Amino acid sequence: MLSRRDFLRGKKGNSIYPPWAISTFIDVCNRCGDCVNVCPLKIIKIGGGGYPVVDFNIGGCDFCQKCVEVCQGQTQALSLKSLDNPAWSMQLVITDKCILDKGIHCRSCEESCDVGAIIYKMKKQDMKVMGDIIIDNEKCTNCGYCVSVCPTNAIEFKTTER
Ligand code: SF4
Ligand code: SF4
Ligand code: SF4
Repeated sequence: MLSRRDFLRGKKGNSIYPPWAISTFIDVCNRCGDCVNVCPLKIIKIGGGGYPVVDFNIGGCDFCQKCVEVCQGQTQALSLKSLDNPAWSMQLVITDKCILDKGIHCRSCEESCDVGAIIYKMKKQDMKVMGDIIIDNEKCTNCGYCVSVCPTNAIEFKTTER
């Protein structure tokens, strides 16, 4: 079973706890599943230990807050008080699974980003035209849409301190 520490670090593929989770989420959440059922985009699912996790491989989050609202009738593990803060404290990371390094043309993540946080830069290496992806973490909203469109699962989120 997933350990508490690994869960908090989001070490279940690209899955991570639902948006606006409190810092003591795993101690407070009662695993009722209401947030799973209410999410219109179906990106919240039951993960390790029965806790809800967001799976960005399914799609991105529109920040509709329906999961937070439904949790108010349960444990408030997703907190209305947190709504002024970002939904997650995470940073986007492009791993070495990105096929641009292999000279294969792909800009799916850049095209999926509505806020222009992903920038494609062309570079030449060994007479070959290659590409690089640059992430602007200041602009990134952590919506996860780029994760869902990447054909090689090359994009991961790393949690940062809340
Ligand atoms: S609605 Fe709240 S208490 Fe219920 S599973 Fe989701 S986060 Fe946990
Ligand atoms: S904010 Fe809305 S879209 Fe995002 S995980 Fe919650 S219910 Fe789903
Ligand atoms: S979608 Fe994935 S493989 Fe394509 S450029 Fe972006 S990170 Fe690389």
